[in-house]
Amino acid sequence: MNKAAMRRYFLSTSALVMMLAASSVVPQNGARKEVNIPDILGFQTLACDFHIHTVFSDGNVWPTTRVQEAWLEGLDAISITDHIEYHPHRTDGLTGPDRPYEIAKPAADAVLLCIVRGTEITKQLPPGHHNALFLTVNDIPDTMNLIDGVKRATGQGAFVFYNHPGWRQPNNIPVWNPEQEQLYQSGQLHGIEIVNGKDYYPLAHRWAIDKKLTLIGSSDVHDPITFDYDFGKGEHRPMTLVFAKNKTVEDIKKALFDRRTAVYWNNILMGDEKYLKTIFDGSVTVVNPEVILTGSTPTVVQVHNSSEITYELVKNGEAENIAIPETVTLYGERTVWFSIKSSTEGLKGRKKITLPYLVKNLYRAPEEGTPVELEIRAEFKQGEKR
Ligand SMILES: [Zn+2]
Ligand SMILES: [Zn+2]
Repeated sequence: MNKAAMRRYFLSTSALVMMLAASSVVPQNGARKEVNIPDILGFQTLACDFHIHTVFSDGNVWPTTRVQEAWLEGLDAISITDHIEYHPHRTDGLTGPDRPYEIAKPAADAVLLCIVRGTEITKQLPPGHHNALFLTVNDIPDTMNLIDGVKRATGQGAFVFYNHPGWRQPNNIPVWNPEQEQLYQSGQLHGIEIVNGKDYYPLAHRWAIDKKLTLIGSSDVHDPITFDYDFGKGEHRPMTLVFAKNKTVEDIKKALFDRRTAVYWNNILMGDEKYLKTIFDGSVTVVNPEVILTGSTPTVVQVHNSSEITYELVKNGEAENIAIPETVTLYGERTVWFSIKSSTEGLKGRKKITLPYLVKNLYRAPEEGTPVELEIRAEFKQGEKR
């Protein structure tokens, strides 16, 4: 056998060995993309979606597929919330109401995904739809009106939120009906969707702040998730970020009742300012905080953003003695650099200086950004006379 023939023989033999080996091992399945947003204030930041449909109501996928999708997208917890009152696949025997959870639970356990029991109590407009979590759905007959249905749910300790409050309303403007008021006044309405799928409801965001309701953002997905979001383009489904002690159903429940959430939608984060600021500070570091400013020569500041959120900064006041850019984009999982320079002549010595910015896509209130500060220590030196 000449060298070339030897090589051919060796290659074909090793290919055969590899094929045999491949047939005797378990193949790798899928690769999860983590939701990269930091833990804060002693809590874990859990990525959750509490509004999902399957073939057990008007969705088009099987419950275990929802688990697989959620795992791939880096979610920590989901709730399958099929309609109590609406079962288009009834002729195929798919009516629920607790079956989607029971089917999904072993699959969720296998991939360490938390799964929360849930349902959508679905009444004609008004009063509209509400989700109830942490309950056995079987206990709520589909003939019950909203108030009685929610009473059954809260009787089990359920967490209840008002879904898509602007759905089918003129200009998507949310409506607060007497039924929501009644539930709210009796302590049986705990949260509200400020985001549902592609829709954001600034008015619902305002109500959530004023009425101290938990902020919820959900996909309300019916089709396979990839029909609605292009992950290749960096899109993500709307999520409720839950700040929980541990990744357990019990701690998620506590966090929801304590209003420890933020909504993550379209690269925008919405929530209490203390959460948004800590997430920003936990993501962003100035790489070279010691800068030398000689005369009016520009110098470079590098800023690293370890989170996946791209922060859009606009100048929010003047930095002392320093000219800073009007806008800075801190791309997710990147380091960016920008130039600053001394704005005052003849300065000498060291100074701690804060660069004031507003992060446009961190909504501490409806469409209102969050102020942040980047800190540097500047050493001013006299420039050469020209
Ligand atoms: Zn609905
Ligand atoms: Zn729904």
